[in-house]
Amino acid sequence: MPGWDIATEDTKYHHYRLRKPSNFIEGSFRTKEITSGISMVMGKLKDGSGNMVAQNIMFDKDKYTPEQAKKWLEGHPEIKKAVEVQAGPGGECVCPECGHTQEHETGKPCNTVKCEKCGHTMERKVEKIDIDKYVPITKIDVEKRVVVGIVLEPDVVDLQGDIYDAETIEKSAHNFLKDVRNIGLMHRQFGKNVHIIESYLAPVDFMLEEKKVKRGTWIMAVKVADNEIWNDVKNGKLNGFSIGARASYEML
Ligand SMILES: [Zn+2]
Repeated sequence: MPGWDIATEDTKYHHYRLRKPSNFIEGSFRTKEITSGISMVMGKLKDGSGNMVAQNIMFDKDKYTPEQAKKWLEGHPEIKKAVEVQAGPGGECVCPECGHTQEHETGKPCNTVKCEKCGHTMERKVEKIDIDKYVPITKIDVEKRVVVGIVLEPDVVDLQGDIYDAETIEKSAHNFLKDVRNIGLMHRQFGKNVHIIESYLAPVDFMLEEKKVKRGTWIMAVKVADNEIWNDVKNGKLNGFSIGARASYEML
């Protein structure tokens, strides 16, 4: 399904198309700039899932010839992969009764499909992803010995070339707190005197120091009581921390 639409004389962009626009709810499209002259268009599918997914990548024809656009995409396999994986082969429906799986058709929710084997109503098959993120420190509160970092931002290609929608980020943030209480990932990584003191989803757009943070972004604040680690933060040796989280999401 992915393919190119090259700009004509009357149009301004080349498109690397991932899904048909007609599969999307009208008026749900949003555009996110990846870099100057290149943007990603996302929208909500008509399948009732409510998730935002990539529809196409736009290249400004004044900045990119068709060859340059193709070359850029080939040179950024992580982005190509991220949006193609997201566009997906359509995912699967699974039968909760007999375990039979069958391919999910776009626009036809699994719960309206009957199992080919036993006739039971199907469910959407849920995939699990492990998130392992390096979180750069965005803010340091010296007096309180607190560092604040952005874990995940919705619909933004991160350092690892991954993109997550707001819903997946919400699930990851929730699962992280749920799990971290049990397994103490941060403790294992840093030792005893480092504590997560805040983990939240930005309810509105706001500024964190000089960084614009948009609604739905997962933010974490960590208190560093350990003297050695705190010295590394202060002298700039430690610029961030890593966290692991697990998200379950529905393949579209
Ligand atoms: Zn069945």
